[in-house]
Amino acid sequence: MYLYNSATHKKEEFKTHTPGRVEMYTCGPTVYHFAHIGNLRSYIMEDVLEKFLRYEGYDVNRVMNITDVGHLASDADTGEDKMLKGARREHKSVMEIAKFYTDAFFDDCAKLNIKTPDVVQPATGLIDQFIQVVSGLIDKGYAYVAGGNVYFDTSRLDHYYVFNDHDEEDLAVGVREGVEEDANKRNKNDFVLWFTKSKFEDQALKWDSPWGVGYPGWHIECSCISMKYNGEYLDLHCGGVDNAFPHHTNEIAQSEAYLGHPWCAQWFHVHHLNTNSGKMSKSKGEFLTVSLLEEKGYDPLAYRFFCLQSHYRKGLVFSWENLDNAAGAYSKLIKRIAALTDTEGAVDEEAAAQMKEKFLTQVGNDLNTSMGITCLYDVLKAPVNDVTKRAVLASFDSVLSLSLLEKAAALREKEAAQAKTAGADGFTVRGEGDPEIDALVLQRAQAKKAKDFAQADRIRDELKAKGVEITDVPGGAVWKRI
Ligand code: AMP
Ligand code: ZN
Repeated sequence: MYLYNSATHKKEEFKTHTPGRVEMYTCGPTVYHFAHIGNLRSYIMEDVLEKFLRYEGYDVNRVMNITDVGHLASDADTGEDKMLKGARREHKSVMEIAKFYTDAFFDDCAKLNIKTPDVVQPATGLIDQFIQVVSGLIDKGYAYVAGGNVYFDTSRLDHYYVFNDHDEEDLAVGVREGVEEDANKRNKNDFVLWFTKSKFEDQALKWDSPWGVGYPGWHIECSCISMKYNGEYLDLHCGGVDNAFPHHTNEIAQSEAYLGHPWCAQWFHVHHLNTNSGKMSKSKGEFLTVSLLEEKGYDPLAYRFFCLQSHYRKGLVFSWENLDNAAGAYSKLIKRIAALTDTEGAVDEEAAAQMKEKFLTQVGNDLNTSMGITCLYDVLKAPVNDVTKRAVLASFDSVLSLSLLEKAAALREKEAAQAKTAGADGFTVRGEGDPEIDALVLQRAQAKKAKDFAQADRIRDELKAKGVEITDVPGGAVWKRI
């Protein structure tokens, strides 16, 4: 696979420290609110990346944190803890908020076919490890205590700032709420590893430490969680592009200082989901969730399809019109797959291998998911039997996770059930899968059979008012929305 590496600013051949094994780390959610569909864009693309690597034959160890302490309102160590803000908003304890939104996050992930990582570690569960690493950094001379907090000393590094090819605007996101001067910092870029003093004394969760009762900074959490579960050499670190600075930059600084050798070889950053008014963000308070998409009648997987249609290194503009287009294309694709009903013959292994090879090359070119979708249409058009088509589609879907064959089977079942219900008196309704409309069409047929033409006409008018057109066909009726 070739993957763009934000640390080297190049597309490179993907390599791992241990052949055949990928140590992969993903920055998890800050659980003070629901994940919005922008956050979930990042998790969808990271999920496809993980599944693609597995498809290529790698053994992947995927680790993710849950940020339930230490992420302050500004990524630059100022403001109060986001978790505390969430707890106050909902008159609950921080741990109640953390549990509720962690569960909500994984529910959303399940609806979007995002696999749960092999290891999920809430930050509050690993405080001893953080204290150990912060102590190590002090011992090695990379950290200092000032004004009650422990800071990382960035002046000790030859090279602090690695992701300098991002837009200034993206980088600014990290310090969005105005950086207040912290007089304790020796250098402008120094950052907090452990807080015992902050302007917000009512921090809910605090632990004993050699530097007094306090709590960890957000950046140290990810470094420690990764070092514990991925080991000393990380192959691939993922996150949204807003995390590149300062979060990932600080992770590199402290991990390499602690370990004494290079830490993570490849950095994968997903660009933002934007609306007309800019980046979708939790802190702005106006954001879209998976539940809201469902309330509006969208299948969450239509959103996944929408995300896969564009490249992860480009900003993606969300609008209802764009989502409608994706939802329409997704449901047409499912219908075409549902029509592959022929069970004659065996899988054409040679043709299947060729199609898979193409898929590997296309998607393996910097995770080109839209080419992955094009490969699905190529399978539908290929001069092979339905058995082969279904087998290859299932194989590609182990990466894309659009539930293609499951949805197609459900559609076929639904159509068969409709035909069966209607078929009791020999009348078949075929439509666009809306039971309410099917029932009306059936009632109209029954009215006609009973020679109650006035009622039959009334129902036809009612359907017309709903934008539905019926065509009588031998043995039944077909309806469609116009
Ligand atoms: P958070 O829960 O705020 O810690 O963010 C969780 C993940 O979502 C991080 O990897 C962020 O970089 C990413 N993220 C935040 N906003 C967006 C957005 N609008 N589009 C894509 N990813 C985002
Ligand atoms: Zn992180």
